[in-house]
Amino acid sequence: MLKLEDIHTYYGNIQALKGVSLQITEGEIVTLIGANGAGKTTTLMSICGLVPPRSGQVIFNGESIADASPNKIVAQGICQVPEGRRIFPHLSVVENLDMGAFLRDDKDDIKADLDYVMELFPILAQRRNQAGDTLSGGEQQMLAISRALMARPRLLLLDEPSLGLAPLVIKRIFEIIKKINEEQNTTIFLVEQNANLALKVAHRGYVMENGRVTITDSAENLLANEEVRKAYLGI
Ligand code: ATP
Repeated sequence: MLKLEDIHTYYGNIQALKGVSLQITEGEIVTLIGANGAGKTTTLMSICGLVPPRSGQVIFNGESIADASPNKIVAQGICQVPEGRRIFPHLSVVENLDMGAFLRDDKDDIKADLDYVMELFPILAQRRNQAGDTLSGGEQQMLAISRALMARPRLLLLDEPSLGLAPLVIKRIFEIIKKINEEQNTTIFLVEQNANLALKVAHRGYVMENGRVTITDSAENLLANEEVRKAYLGI
């Protein structure tokens, strides 16, 4: 479904990605793990067109999108839930969700999807008329994921969904990530610093260091990998 071929991405003179190649097959949950500053967020930014790669290819369903604009990329079915959620603080929960569907005109299906996300996260139904910035961090993360789902993405990019949340909330969010993948057949690319959690929910994973992919394997093998255990699982 998605293929990155030798992408190099820069912020001015600073090279953040030094030849990243990876691929994601339809239906998978793939995780990208690595330390602070390894280049995980930049990889997502390069996919969704916010920081386009200077060289290399991003291929989505056989078509090159490396030079496409972010809105064209969303229209093709790639949607990102950014680090720090970035919901609209002064819009209500329902208005935030409506914004997720702004490229769509299939009213009946939008209504069905709204019901679906409210079923996934019943707290959002209870808070439907509350402004985004009055929600807790966990509720904001649920809203950010739901807003992305309202775009009916084929590929959902999640950047650090566990960041700053309490363990019970994280557990719930990871259960839902799995459910979305299984029930909606949404392919998921999950960037996480919490490698343990990410590898438990993912099918496969990539490990990134200093702008390069250094290891790739099944999630099961990565959980058992000595190097990964020492560096990222604290074992
Ligand atoms: P974190 O988990 O801390 O978000 P990360 O693995 O997502 O880390 P990136 O945010 O992709 O890493 O950063 C990769 C490199 O690019 C780092 O060296 C970082 O300092 C640099 N970088 C990121 N954003 C910018 C920016 N806007 N301007 C300049 N350099 C940046």
